[in-house]
Amino acid sequence: MKSRWKLACLVFFGMTTHLFAQEKATKPKPEDTEAWKPVPPVVQPGPYKETPAPEGAIILFDGKNLDEWINTRDGKPAEWIVKDGVLVVNKKTGNIETKRKFKDYQLHLEFMFPDNSEFKGQSRSNSGLFLASTGGGDAGYELQILDSYQNETYVNGMAASIYKQAIPLANPSRKPGEWQTYDITWTAPRFKSDGSLESPATVTVLYNGVLVQDRFILKGETAFIGQPKYKPYDTAGIKLQSHGDASKPMSFKNIWIKETK
Ligand code: MG
Repeated sequence: MKSRWKLACLVFFGMTTHLFAQEKATKPKPEDTEAWKPVPPVVQPGPYKETPAPEGAIILFDGKNLDEWINTRDGKPAEWIVKDGVLVVNKKTGNIETKRKFKDYQLHLEFMFPDNSEFKGQSRSNSGLFLASTGGGDAGYELQILDSYQNETYVNGMAASIYKQAIPLANPSRKPGEWQTYDITWTAPRFKSDGSLESPATVTVLYNGVLVQDRFILKGETAFIGQPKYKPYDTAGIKLQSHGDASKPMSFKNIWIKETK
């Protein structure tokens, strides 16, 4: 009897260990969805020029206050820092997003990185613009913001990538200390009443005036691990990422949006 017990225990533990080992081998990892080529060509952009908001645009940040923004984590007034007419990321208080919710739009955003050359890859001035914030934390569709000036990383995670979905067509990154621009056209996904996808989201992005995403059709919400998936929503805020890297915080200015639907 005793030895039969022992045998049963041995078989049980043997099977469990085997299952754990199997799970470890097949468990998806962040690296599985990194693409390292093709490396987009480096393109020298034209000189920086501020693009003032056109008639009918909603000013999301004009250098004065954060009235249009809330903390993602608790919905309270956004706690990033407004200083000398620019918005500086506050790493301690997490992501911020707009109070207003949007569907389809054109958006303009300007940003500048400090010199963080002691950091490499994804740790050098990482932020992000979530084209639709569909939940807390990093939920949504991320257009990557990263210092990609002479900074190697996986190409579907560099500046102007749709994070882990779309490699930019070019790398027109300016040096840290110089202002840079994104001009985005976003068409939100549409869902049927049963929650299934009716039409996917598409995005076009100009980075420093250079076309880097051309009507890209998204595969779903950004996933750090695993494959992107769609989750139904109607309208959503625009979110800026406070990334957990140790580099000095970056700045934003002149953010405006013009709804197209
Ligand atoms: Mg990011």
